[in-house]
Amino acid sequence: MPLTGKNLPAFRRSLLHWYDQNRRDLPWRRSRDPYRIWLSEIMLQQTRVAAVLDHYRIFLERFPNVQSLAAASEDAVLAAWSGLGYYRRARMLHQCARELAQKHAGRFPQRAEDLQNLPGIGRYTAAAVASIAFAEPIAVVDGNVERVVQRFLGGHRTTPQIWQHAQALLARSRPGDFNQAMMELGATVCVPGEPRCLVCPIRRWCVTQPSRQAGSRPITRGRRSSPSGKTPPSIRPAKKNIWCLLNQRNGRIRLVQRRKKASLMPGMWELPQSSEPPRRLPPAAQWRTFRHSITVTDYTVHVLRNAALINAALAARSKWIAIDRIAQIPITGLTRKILKASGII
Ligand code: SF4
Repeated sequence: MPLTGKNLPAFRRSLLHWYDQNRRDLPWRRSRDPYRIWLSEIMLQQTRVAAVLDHYRIFLERFPNVQSLAAASEDAVLAAWSGLGYYRRARMLHQCARELAQKHAGRFPQRAEDLQNLPGIGRYTAAAVASIAFAEPIAVVDGNVERVVQRFLGGHRTTPQIWQHAQALLARSRPGDFNQAMMELGATVCVPGEPRCLVCPIRRWCVTQPSRQAGSRPITRGRRSSPSGKTPPSIRPAKKNIWCLLNQRNGRIRLVQRRKKASLMPGMWELPQSSEPPRRLPPAAQWRTFRHSITVTDYTVHVLRNAALINAALAARSKWIAIDRIAQIPITGLTRKILKASGII
């Protein structure tokens, strides 16, 4: 049955009822505080929900509100962000908090249109914060919603058209919940690949669902998804090796600061590392091997524990950092992973 103006209320009721019964209990869903919602939206960009949960809690413990985040140093913010990757997000978050503190008395504007004027807040994030925290009746479209709308209405629609359709579908009485319901549906039911139409709360009105039940291939579109579950583009990652040196002495660890102008993770601290193995590598020097992915590269990381293996250039750039200071400085996710595995932090 196609969706018409007459059955639109039933469609909205079905989706919201399903969401009320089935939504995942995520910490940012227990709050209408725009700060917490904004933080979750930024953290969830390009990052899986499971990877965000701990970081979200720790970040909020350190910076519970706009004022505390605005007053922090950039290094302290990057340190709290460490392990989430895509550090530009943390820098923009910090800039945005400072602007909120300086120009808005620490309060978020309530309309999506005004939120979009803040650093690092685009159309999606503005609509998410405005609808969830302030109940503005404005639709949100991420990769999940786009997939649901494309399948639900059938045919092919451009992204601007999808935004218009999402706005027309929106339940204005509960815009934040409706938006989250659409994203949740895309993340858990109308998933990429083979959607789970038989348990879909809106299948009655879905144009493509009957053909899917007849066994036809689902429509899949290679767009990146966001907050409620990621659909990464299918890019085959490059494979590389790196060698990292883990030197510990008198409660200190040897670290190198990445160049401030580095394109990736500028200014962050990491273990001395090289893309070439040391010329002379005694077998006993190799401690462990890790797998680590950064953007579109899969690294095999060889961790060495022999202080003599560091080359002169890296030794000159490195500093001995007290282990109890590490929580206050921004270290890379790979360095955090290695220091955790070695029991140092
Ligand atoms: S019926 Fe299937 S294709 Fe249609 S919206 Fe639901 S899960 Fe997606």
